[in-house]
Amino acid sequence: MLNQGIGSWPARRARKTPDRVAVVHEDRTLTHRELHLRVLRLAHALRALGVARGDRIAYLGPNHPAFLETLFAAGTLGAVFVPLNSRLAAPELAYNLSDSGSVVLVHAPEQAAAARAAADEAGVRQRIALTGPDGDGALGYEELLAGAGTDPLDEAVAPEDPCLIMYTSGTTGRPKGAVLSHANITWNSVNVLVDTDLSSDEVTLVVAPLFHTAGLNMTCLPTLLKGGRVVLLGAFDAERVLELIEDLRVTYMFGVPTMYDAMAARPRWATTDLSSLRTLNCGGAPVPARTIAAYLDRGLAFSQGYGMTEASPGVLFLDREQTSVKAGSAGVPHFFTDTRVVLPDGREAGPGERGEILVQGPHVMTGYWERSEDTEAAFTREDDGGRWLRTGDVARLDDDGYAYIVDRVKDMFVSGGENVYPAEVEDVFLTHPAVAECAVIGVPDPVWGEVGRAVVVLRPGADADKDEILGHLHGRLAKYKIPKSLVLTGELPRTASGKIIKPAVRDAYADGPGDRPYA
Ligand code: ATP
Ligand code: MG
Repeated sequence: MLNQGIGSWPARRARKTPDRVAVVHEDRTLTHRELHLRVLRLAHALRALGVARGDRIAYLGPNHPAFLETLFAAGTLGAVFVPLNSRLAAPELAYNLSDSGSVVLVHAPEQAAAARAAADEAGVRQRIALTGPDGDGALGYEELLAGAGTDPLDEAVAPEDPCLIMYTSGTTGRPKGAVLSHANITWNSVNVLVDTDLSSDEVTLVVAPLFHTAGLNMTCLPTLLKGGRVVLLGAFDAERVLELIEDLRVTYMFGVPTMYDAMAARPRWATTDLSSLRTLNCGGAPVPARTIAAYLDRGLAFSQGYGMTEASPGVLFLDREQTSVKAGSAGVPHFFTDTRVVLPDGREAGPGERGEILVQGPHVMTGYWERSEDTEAAFTREDDGGRWLRTGDVARLDDDGYAYIVDRVKDMFVSGGENVYPAEVEDVFLTHPAVAECAVIGVPDPVWGEVGRAVVVLRPGADADKDEILGHLHGRLAKYKIPKSLVLTGELPRTASGKIIKPAVRDAYADGPGDRPYA
């Protein structure tokens, strides 16, 4: 059998469009043929180091061509790629390395000290440093490639073999390693190609971290599959993103809402030529109405998507034609995806009713890496044998079947018997001109059980009064949803991809200062 996994994609692309540009990073470009040959060399080098089928190979570093090369080289050998979150500290990295049992770690210079410490602690066999041998046991990445050949490698890889262990963002607890197969990733790419209409002329800007599924699977992989080019930006920088869109005539990108907000807040936003953009894909966290409005006002197709690591990640997507008609919606399921919205008693939710969204499709993971209990809990068991992924997110459907993501089940709180979804309340706070960021949490209350507390970051230079900000909600939201207290702060705890870490907000502010009763 041949290699039917994604490790074979560069070779297949090199056969069709060898001379087209595949990857752009800073001043460097790689054609599909060059990418293929570098992947092959790396695969030979890894094999010479003893890497075999099923072994785990970790990568730690910013968005960089070596990330993609290591992914494809692992896939060429039937090994499993483990991208690590570059914001983690050494002990957290050591946890991920030993949890995944990685035998090799490829790392960038920025993380050299943490990589060395974590690899030692986790018993990783071999480090490979992008900057060259470090005199402390690490081999040099380019040196390995230079010393390796390009004979074809014919490791058999089946679609259902594991391709990636992708850690979840850790927004609600310790990150879990979702095992994604080659088939999972392929089907996700097909869904993206069908629904965003990507072409071989695509210029895709990759600004979200590649170590999260959205960064890798919503942008890079479908673009490379189609023969388009990906432009890698090491880390998000709003100014640089606007510059690149104009200079490289970018056609497609994915970002989380905070990234799009930061871009729209730059002075050069108003003067940047954005006419090359065909689709802006936004998701990963609740998308504020003001973010959507800023982009629709510029006449751009701003499509909200919804997904999760466990689904590789795309689940819902708002078609380009519907962006202004159904603003605020995350759209309908991707082409090869099915969803249901169910009420707590298991009944199917009717239009407008809020329930948990469940997912089925060929892109949904088989389970978490070595966590059978978590895997068991992640799926429903239906009498008819159907296995639905429980997302832990609340959604409602409109009369046309378009989905609106309400919030996470875990972030909801109950005030006076009524469910409050913080994302809805935050969205209204963000329409106040002085409010830059906001997180709403439930705090204990003797009368109502729980009441809301808002933690707010003001825009630089804004000096709004707390009561005035809370007053902004009156008439816009039912009274039970309006927080009873408000705390001003300098910043909110966020994950590497920019999501607010609600458990950390609750730890810091649930009993904290700033109680400002508001009648
Ligand atoms: P963890 O599972 O470790 O707690 P996480 O759920 O944030 O972290 P990811 O898989 O990166 O990890 O993110 C998926 C989650 O992001 C979804 O379950 C959902 O809560 C949120 N999300 C994604 N897209 C949207 C969207 N368009 N609107 C609202 N929330 C979204
Ligand atoms: Mg999750």
